[in-house]
Amino acid sequence: MSFLNKIGTVVITLLIITFIYFQLKNAPFYATKQTSPTNEEQQVKIGVSPKYNPKVKKEFKTEQTTPPEEGKKDRPSRRIRSLTVSVAQGDTLIAILTDAGASKEQAAQLISHLRKIYEPRNLPVGQIIHITISDKQLIRLSFTPSFDFEIVAELQGNKSFKVEKKKIKLAIEDKIFSGVITHSLYQTAIEQQLPPNMLIELIRIFSFDVDFQREIQRGDRFSLLFNIYRNEQNKVVHNGTVTWASMNLSGKKLEYAAYKTKSGFKDYYDRNGKSVTKTLMRTPIDGARLSSRYGKRRHPILGYSKMHKGVDFAAPKGVPIMAAGDGVIEYIGRNGPFGKYIRIRHNSVYKTAYAHLSRFRKGLRKRHRVKQGSTIGYVGSTGRSTGPHLHYEVIKHGRQTNPMSVRLPAGDRLKGDELIKLKQSWVELDKRLNKAALKIVN
Ligand SMILES: [Zn+2]
Repeated sequence: MSFLNKIGTVVITLLIITFIYFQLKNAPFYATKQTSPTNEEQQVKIGVSPKYNPKVKKEFKTEQTTPPEEGKKDRPSRRIRSLTVSVAQGDTLIAILTDAGASKEQAAQLISHLRKIYEPRNLPVGQIIHITISDKQLIRLSFTPSFDFEIVAELQGNKSFKVEKKKIKLAIEDKIFSGVITHSLYQTAIEQQLPPNMLIELIRIFSFDVDFQREIQRGDRFSLLFNIYRNEQNKVVHNGTVTWASMNLSGKKLEYAAYKTKSGFKDYYDRNGKSVTKTLMRTPIDGARLSSRYGKRRHPILGYSKMHKGVDFAAPKGVPIMAAGDGVIEYIGRNGPFGKYIRIRHNSVYKTAYAHLSRFRKGLRKRHRVKQGSTIGYVGSTGRSTGPHLHYEVIKHGRQTNPMSVRLPAGDRLKGDELIKLKQSWVELDKRLNKAALKIVN
């Protein structure tokens, strides 16, 4: 018993000694930390004796994180900070400013001044905002909500804010863009870096005249004239709208210039004053989204079969379909082999029909009025169809006609003084085009 007791005492004693030993062993470790040399010296130590690495490294780490943080707390009161913030979903300017370190009062004061020229609620997601702040004191705020102006708010002598809308200096240039179609209009435009909004405009302009799936062939050409806006760093920051557009399709040349009539109506007109806008569009779908290669498909255009008294546009499912002209919905719903089907009555002569849709525009009903170019439904493959496509029919006096060859009634035609003015604007335009002639292909 006493022997076991002795062992017990020895074990406990050993445990205590071990505990004390480690306590003592650790104590100098912390003690040296307090009086430790600078980080640089320790870093050298790491390099010299790798044996000490684990310990020194650990110590080095804590030294790295704690003291500089303490330093930060003391100093920034005298330091000016510049922040760049991107507006996120659900952000408010007041939250952005207070998060940046501004006091609520000062942030509210800045916003009330800002409101006189810019409503901060209009700040879009992703808008970049530059903030300069010094010890909870907002000094400057700036952002560029448009390509042509900047909003700047600056603190005036510790009191209130001066808010200004500053115009950005821009150089405006004519830019001529030309392309020869190799595979598809879309591909050519992308390859040659035509800005996407310019491609959309080009297609919209010509969708009255051109069947974008069948009429475009390899070697066809297109040209556009539009303005580009360069900032002081010579960077293009904006494209204007299309001033002039031309297409050369197998030798047939179509060209239009933007023109605004006295009554303020803006459209594209040819050299004889005929507007591009027809009562009906030949391509009632975004021409860039047509999936088959242009000119490669031959389609039974006229009524060889009951189904094909129209033209088909092969496009991916879900591509929006437009109303080819202003009109009233005469039929909307399932229609046998046509699947989901819409028919629009445009006037006493013309109707258009759209078949195989995947779905209709939400809320669209019979007898609803539709505007030319507005979305009525989406490409699908309902009814008797082998793949997603739009089956499009132009019905004249109750009979299906070939939308390709039908002589669509023209829209506006300028006369008198208005025609003279238009012809003058073409003269001016030709001068501009000639100036940039080197770049024009056709
Ligand atoms: Zn069809």
